[in-house]
Amino acid sequence: MPPSTGIMAGEGCLLVMVVDVHPQLALHEGMVQSYLSSCISFANFHLATSVKNRLAVIAANHLETRFLYPQKNGEKADRQKDGRLELLSHVDESIMEELRIMMYHDAKVEQTESLISGAIGRGLLYIKRHEREDQIVNKIHARILVIKISSDTGSQYLNYINTYLTAQKINTAIDVCVIGGDCGLLQQGADISGGYYHSIQDMSQLLQSLILMYQPDISVRKRLNAPPPDSVDYRAACFCHRTLVDMGNVCSNCLSVYCKAVPLCSTCNVIFQTDRPLMKLPKKKK
Ligand SMILES: [Zn+2]
Ligand SMILES: [Zn+2]
Repeated sequence: MPPSTGIMAGEGCLLVMVVDVHPQLALHEGMVQSYLSSCISFANFHLATSVKNRLAVIAANHLETRFLYPQKNGEKADRQKDGRLELLSHVDESIMEELRIMMYHDAKVEQTESLISGAIGRGLLYIKRHEREDQIVNKIHARILVIKISSDTGSQYLNYINTYLTAQKINTAIDVCVIGGDCGLLQQGADISGGYYHSIQDMSQLLQSLILMYQPDISVRKRLNAPPPDSVDYRAACFCHRTLVDMGNVCSNCLSVYCKAVPLCSTCNVIFQTDRPLMKLPKKKK
């Protein structure tokens, strides 16, 4: 009897890649080429693994999120071409074309981070729509892979948490691969949605890590000897400054988090007694 893998023979996987293309990327010498070619190679690899596999690629920078593949009017071109190699070249062309439009930005933007949470949200909507349209024809599993490069702040905290809870509800795992440092908020997302979080230091490891760790389906991963998961940094961002805090005040009415005592909750307008002691937030979860 063949081992059960969760994905039955004949079922494909819809992979939604969320790729960070923050202008900061351009500041690192020679990194852009390596980064983009790793992402595109992985997209090709996913499609080439099974004819039933599907792909969507969404890029996010500090100003916008954009579908790189499939393009808005690219569906027709897809159907007219038959044969896998033509599909793969279409993927490459489509991604590069849309990226070129997106990349007309000043490289010296440092204050704002990429709109990753918005891109994850669009990915979830895409999956939901795909499920509804395709449920009779073929059953497909879906997951999201976030590839992130820029540093993060807590400015999108609530948007992140909302997308994570949505992903958990529709049983869609969010995998996260971070380059050059940890990202606590995305780590929470992988943990909440049942995805896999890994951070790498060197860009040259990107393609190898993507293929080895993120290509196998969630159910197959249990049988792989993957590195043990790190403890998750479950700090919350305060609602007043959007910074991650160890200790904070929590509104007893709506659970908004504040880094210091405030007389009034700005979310629900409840008035506090300001002589209350600080409440400790849960910091780490195994
Ligand atoms: Zn604050
Ligand atoms: Zn409140």
